[in-house]
Amino acid sequence: MELSGLLEKMRMDHLLPQLDALCEQAAKKDLNYRDFLLDALTTEWNGRHLKGVEARLRLARFPWVKTLEQFDFSFQPSIDKKVIRELSSLGFVGRAENIIILGPPGVGKTHLAIAIGFKALEAGHTALFLTLESMITRLTKARLENRVERQLQQFVSPKVLIIDEMGYLPMNREEAGLFFRLLTRRYEKASTIITSNKSFVDWGEIFNDQVLATAILDRLLHHCTTLNIKGESYRLKEKRKAGLFGPPPKAQEVRPDEEEEA
Ligand code: ADP
Ligand code: MG
Repeated sequence: MELSGLLEKMRMDHLLPQLDALCEQAAKKDLNYRDFLLDALTTEWNGRHLKGVEARLRLARFPWVKTLEQFDFSFQPSIDKKVIRELSSLGFVGRAENIIILGPPGVGKTHLAIAIGFKALEAGHTALFLTLESMITRLTKARLENRVERQLQQFVSPKVLIIDEMGYLPMNREEAGLFFRLLTRRYEKASTIITSNKSFVDWGEIFNDQVLATAILDRLLHHCTTLNIKGESYRLKEKRKAGLFGPPPKAQEVRPDEEEEA
């Protein structure tokens, strides 16, 4: 059988188009058989890996992708880099632990959630990103259409579920109940990353029910890393540089709702 036919049958889709170039390089570098085989198989493996990451990335529905390498930690000294290093080693995924990222708007909560989620995708895990609002909308619609189980299952199956922007909108009791069902199903099975502009004491307001809020926090916090970012908005920093705003406010004076649209 021809080599190209054999590669095709073996579905070496990434090696096949590179084969001539690889052979040429091997001749130039005077590679031995073993090193050539290593190069050839590495080419195939890298291609497959990248394809897998791209496929998982499409399914994850990230609104945009930013990485940990793109995060300026010197701008947010309240973030412990050791904790980020530990999270990016992804032990939390294997242990089905959660991450909660708290802080005012613009401090990089979504950026960090996506960056950690992206690490998980690269390592072969599945992920899904949703704002709390869109998640609740979809669950409510599913309930009205009598298919809430199937919808819940879709949110339960990813190894890493990112729920962004908890706290901007309060939930009614039914919505909070659906959210509680989802978290109960994920509890100790898969990791959930939540970002919020509200501190835990204010979560009762979000759920309109202190008892439910406590039960939700209980499950979320049992195995959880909390990042509490106490800093200035990165978005505002850029504007301030352009002279559009005055000097930075004191941390407690940051008014989340005003800043978000800035
Ligand atoms: P939040 O979710 O807390 O409101 P985002 O994660 O959406 O904030 O961050 C707002 C914008 O600023 C994004 O484009 C993000 O990439 C960028 N950003 C925030 N913090 C940093 C940082 N420390 N280094 C680099 N970019 C940052
Ligand atoms: Mg955000």
